[in-house]
Amino acid sequence: MNTVPPQVLLSHHLKSLKLPSFAREYEKVALECASEQADYPRYLLRLCELERIDRDRRNMERRIRQAHFPQTKSLDTFDFAAMPSLNKALVLELARCEWIERRENCIALGPAGTGKTHTALALGLAACQKHHSVLFVTAAALVHELTEARDERRLRALQKQLARVNLLIVDELGYVPFTAVGSELLFEVFSRRYEHGSTLVTSNLPFDEWTGVFGSERLTGALLDRLTHHVHILQLNGESYRLSSSKKRTRKDKALAPDLLNEVKTLDTKGDAN
Ligand code: ADP
Ligand code: MG
Repeated sequence: MNTVPPQVLLSHHLKSLKLPSFAREYEKVALECASEQADYPRYLLRLCELERIDRDRRNMERRIRQAHFPQTKSLDTFDFAAMPSLNKALVLELARCEWIERRENCIALGPAGTGKTHTALALGLAACQKHHSVLFVTAAALVHELTEARDERRLRALQKQLARVNLLIVDELGYVPFTAVGSELLFEVFSRRYEHGSTLVTSNLPFDEWTGVFGSERLTGALLDRLTHHVHILQLNGESYRLSSSKKRTRKDKALAPDLLNEVKTLDTKGDAN
């Protein structure tokens, strides 16, 4: 005679079938369905839906972890009114991620502090939510990692890994010029991804100054040719958001409490002297 209670066996099977939400919820949902007189297919359907929702959430969390975002930013917190040069309709369209399915590219250009990284992070997050694999890296860190991988004879594995991801975000291209080897290695990343996966690049430099970063006109030409073949350009021109919001804050503080502000300033100066 089998003396093992069915709940124990059920929990064992659900675990090995990797259905944690079924295991957690089946008793509670059974009670709900009994009280509502819902039939067996409806009972099963509810459990399946719970499992589906939980699994989607877990997968999305995993994709976000694997993307290595330095911060979480979304379009909900982006003030489009503060950046009129940015094409809001295009950003919202890109957040739907169809461009990633079409393996197109995106380049965000503009001076420091105008929201390029914020936009890139938000589009990366949207991509994770739409089931795409994403990797976020700064151009300098990527070149450093490629160089290191080459020295340690694991460049092929890294190049393969970089070619596989659905969306590669390369942030801050332009702040640091690359060595000739670094430029070649980065060129190969872009080259391999061409028409295979989407790349989003942010840069503080207009295209005609990219040669200064890559050091070679021929290589920059070939790179831009691939990168801009199917591309969406985001222009972020204007004052740094950080600067303008801190100016606004200072104006507001002054209007609210001029005496207090003066006191703080006096304290600051005293602090500096020590
Ligand atoms: P960039 O990459 O162009 O140098 P960032 O994206 O790092 O600029 O923006 C600097 C800071 O200002 C970040 O904290 C970012 O979230 C914020 N920021 C920039 N633009 C906006 C905006 N239009 N709305 C809300 N926050 C913004
Ligand atoms: Mg940035």
